[in-house]
Amino acid sequence: MTVDVAWALRWVRRTAELVAEHRDELVELDRRIGDGDHGENLDRGFRAVVVRLDGLDEPPAQVGDVLRVVATTLMSTVGGAAGPLYGTAYLRAAKVSGLAELDSAAVLALLESALEGVVARGKAQPGEKTMVDAWSAAVAAATEAVTAARSPREVLAEAARAADEGAQATIPMVATKGRASYLGERSAGHLDPGAASSALVLRAAVEATVPEER
Ligand code: ADP
Ligand code: MG
Repeated sequence: MTVDVAWALRWVRRTAELVAEHRDELVELDRRIGDGDHGENLDRGFRAVVVRLDGLDEPPAQVGDVLRVVATTLMSTVGGAAGPLYGTAYLRAAKVSGLAELDSAAVLALLESALEGVVARGKAQPGEKTMVDAWSAAVAAATEAVTAARSPREVLAEAARAADEGAQATIPMVATKGRASYLGERSAGHLDPGAASSALVLRAAVEATVPEER
């Protein structure tokens, strides 16, 4: 199973499906420690991405072409903090994915660049109860998988598993960045919505590698 342009297209479509399925849950998470718009924001954004991909005149030649469509669409359709954060993540990831197919090292580079984009934009570090907690866990696990000479699919699987753990680990944290930080200590005890949606994005990436067995 290769991680190629067809995979990238399936990844984005699967992300849109998962975000739609979990929309209300993301809204509820954001209602607890934010303003309740995260699920709506992302659902609107990924629906728009799918419409854009469906309307392309020519099929994308490189993985990065797909990711660039995601980046520009999210930046123009998703408001709040998450639009620019995800937009920058996909834009950085696109820049290192000018390839028709990704090997394990290129999958890692994609994930690292996405994390760098989020950090460049939001200036959060791990432990501040943001999507950085999911992405940094994913990158750490992917790095180990590449070191262990695992396949591109296994690198994505490790990243997705770790992203989920990274998201769960935000529950006891006190938010020090973003809207949730206004709550101070009262932000503890809740899953961060952006970390939860990031775990969905990475789950979609691994599910996109095995479309016929899903
Ligand atoms: P808003 O907070 O503007 O309503 P969203 O609800 O769409 O935006 O997104 C909130 C999510 O954005 C948070 O759960 C968190 O994961 C993420 N976030 C907020 N600020 C930052 C930041 N500075 N760095 C990284 N992620 C952040
Ligand atoms: Mg919000």
